[in-house]
Amino acid sequence: MPSPALRLPPHHLLACPKCGANSDTGLAAAEQRCTVCGSEFFDLAGMPCWFAVGKLQKTYWDSLLGLVMNAAAVNTTLGAEQLDTLDLLPSVRACIERDIAANQTITQALLDLLTQAGLIAAVHPGFAQ
Ligand SMILES: [Zn+2]
Repeated sequence: MPSPALRLPPHHLLACPKCGANSDTGLAAAEQRCTVCGSEFFDLAGMPCWFAVGKLQKTYWDSLLGLVMNAAAVNTTLGAEQLDTLDLLPSVRACIERDIAANQTITQALLDLLTQAGLIAAVHPGFAQ
C-alpha cells in the first residue's frame, strides 16, 4: 500500500523539536529532516511524528508492538497448553477457547491497524526487555 501523503501544517508554524530551526534556518519539513542538527523524523499514515529523539521514537514504538505480539503469542500458547493438558469441565474448556479466539482477534486487529499506519512489529535489541 502506498504511503499516504504527509499532512503538514503551514511550514511557518513548524520548528525542529531538537534545535528549534525553522524552514528559513534549516528545517526541511517536506523531507522530515533538519539540516541544522541532522535530526530525521517520520510519519505514521501521513501524520507527522516529530520528536526530539527523531526516528528513535518509531524504533521504540516498533519494539513495543513487537513485545505486545510476543506476549500475545505466549498467551495463546499457554491457553492451548491448558486445553491439552488439563482435565477441564466443558464449560471451562469453552471459556478458554473463547479467550484464545478473542485474544487472537484483538491482537490481529491491533497489528493490522498499526502496520497499516507504518509500524513494524520488531523488537529492537535496545528495547528488548
Ligand atoms: Zn534540528
